[in-house]
Amino acid sequence: MRILALGLAALVLTGARLPGLTVIRVDPLTVTGDDDFARHRDPADWQGLTVHRIDFSEERETWRLWKIEDRSRPNGPLWFVPHDNENAGFEAALVELHKYGGTLIAVDSGGVRMNHNVTMGPPIDPNRNFNDGLPGYPSQVLAALNHGAWPIIALHTNQRGYDPSTSTCPHPEDVPGEGVISIRYCDAVLHPSPSQGRAYPFDNDDTVAFATYNASARPEDAFCDRQMMAADFNVVHERVVDSDGSLSNYAVLHHLSYLNFETEDLGMEPDKLAATRDRLVWMVDHAIAMCATPAQRPTVLPKLIFR
Ligand SMILES: [Zn+2]
Repeated sequence: MRILALGLAALVLTGARLPGLTVIRVDPLTVTGDDDFARHRDPADWQGLTVHRIDFSEERETWRLWKIEDRSRPNGPLWFVPHDNENAGFEAALVELHKYGGTLIAVDSGGVRMNHNVTMGPPIDPNRNFNDGLPGYPSQVLAALNHGAWPIIALHTNQRGYDPSTSTCPHPEDVPGEGVISIRYCDAVLHPSPSQGRAYPFDNDDTVAFATYNASARPEDAFCDRQMMAADFNVVHERVVDSDGSLSNYAVLHHLSYLNFETEDLGMEPDKLAATRDRLVWMVDHAIAMCATPAQRPTVLPKLIFR
């Protein structure tokens, strides 16, 4: 009976309702057609890591995820890189996976931001698909949380600047930029708290940490908010009432410890990619040292049920 119950639980967690779910272990050195792997042909880059390719369909969409694990340290963070065009996010996550262990989930959208592998309708943003009504996708992305991973650390890059015409706190001297994310942008949801000293990496307005909090709570209740503010980070406070389908919103509504770092995409030349990666790595290292050491790990973590 116990074995039967465990079997049923496993079916729920692995997404029994996901058509075409396949999980295949791969040798990362032989993965072709993916630039993230093509940049890493040195076996040392994969030392101690196990890589699986996960494919499944849910509703109108078909997904491909890469799961890269340090199986000797399952209690490390869940690293999440949702946007396949944000290459420095992948680079930073791989560096940090070696440093802290855990599990890295990277969405494979063929090198672009959106998942165009849909049977109808518009392409889907992999960071707007965390919905309780479609549990298959979050069940695959977040599975490691039920096996000890803590906290979630999401990594992004963005384009320089922001559009002052859509901001509720425009700086008249700012010229319109390409991006949305900036420490100089605000709206009803996003409230920036800029670094005062503007030391590296916060000498760049597009280099920010998100601190997401439930609207019924206070901004400083966000995971690591007090520490990041005290350390003079660029912090964007994100107030959540209803979920927008992003992992930050899902995390706050499911009481999950969550960090999200962004920096400006400086380009794809190796030195630019490394510089972008290093800004993300700096923020991760300092935030982990302040808020996510093994001693700070909660004794009981929430269990996620996907159905
Ligand atoms: Zn992104």
